[in-house]
Amino acid sequence: MEKQHKSEKRATQSERQGHGEQASEGAGKLYVVATPIGNLGDISVRALAVLAEVDLVAAEDTRTTGHLLAHHGIGAKLVALHEHNETVRAAELVARMQAGKTIALVSDAGTPGISDPGALLVARAMEAGITVCPIPGANAAIAALSAAGLSAPHFLFYGFLPAKPAGRRTALAALRELPYALVFYEAPHRVTECVADLAATLGAEREIVIARELTKLFEAIHRCRLDEASAWLAADPNRQRGEFVLIVSGAREEKQEGLPAEAERVLRLLLAELPLKQSAALAAAITGARKNELYARALALRTTQVEK
Ligand code: SAM
Repeated sequence: MEKQHKSEKRATQSERQGHGEQASEGAGKLYVVATPIGNLGDISVRALAVLAEVDLVAAEDTRTTGHLLAHHGIGAKLVALHEHNETVRAAELVARMQAGKTIALVSDAGTPGISDPGALLVARAMEAGITVCPIPGANAAIAALSAAGLSAPHFLFYGFLPAKPAGRRTALAALRELPYALVFYEAPHRVTECVADLAATLGAEREIVIARELTKLFEAIHRCRLDEASAWLAADPNRQRGEFVLIVSGAREEKQEGLPAEAERVLRLLLAELPLKQSAALAAAITGARKNELYARALALRTTQVEK
């Protein structure tokens, strides 16, 4: 049997382990690995294989990730990468990957780079020509959306609103007219005031889904009108505890009822002098309104006139 090339052998081994990476010999690589948002079981087979195999795990908090790795029997080498050392650490880690090392980037919970550090290391790695490979998994926003039951197909992920009320209200005013479900992250000590601002700024009749402690023991998902949300939170102090995703339904696009006023006016003038079909065609040419809508309206107007 022909001798297997070393890099081929490595790829086959990787495929067997479930992540099918075709890393070329000696090339460093950055894996961006999603970890659980509460339940330690919410991690993919591929993520575990990558974490077990890389040379180094860059973690937002080495203790949190150490706990996760120990739970899954993985003894990886850890290094801290958080918002306070990201710039310096990113340069060091890129140098290591250029020297051929493989690194997994993880945050405390969920997907790195989503309201979490990581984007800077990814950007630096890309600039250095290093392959960046996402290992998808848990994300609080997507978990909340999946269980929110909102039928609208589009959403806007906002993440954390400004902490101070004035900044928060200004940010919300800019989102008010958007016809997309709005997805926010919020801390427990601000959730009550945030929900009050959502109702005051976005409109009382919109729906809110309050998704709390997802995948954890006290997981709760509550859906109500925005003007009912403050009272619901206040009814039980436990409802204000834990981690929150808040989803607000999008602004309803106001559908114009009937013809624009100008088209209606022109159509009436023409109808007084001309046959119905010609009036509709001329009104469409003059005003730009739709001919079939003008025709239908002309028919209705004629019928009313005849009935009179
Ligand atoms: N990178 C994470 C992700 O992919 O979702 C988000 C990190 S961000 C620093 C943390 C915020 O996410 C929390 O303050 C909360 O708003 C939300 N969050 C995280 N875990 C959650 C959970 N289990 N239930 C509800 N919200 C959660």
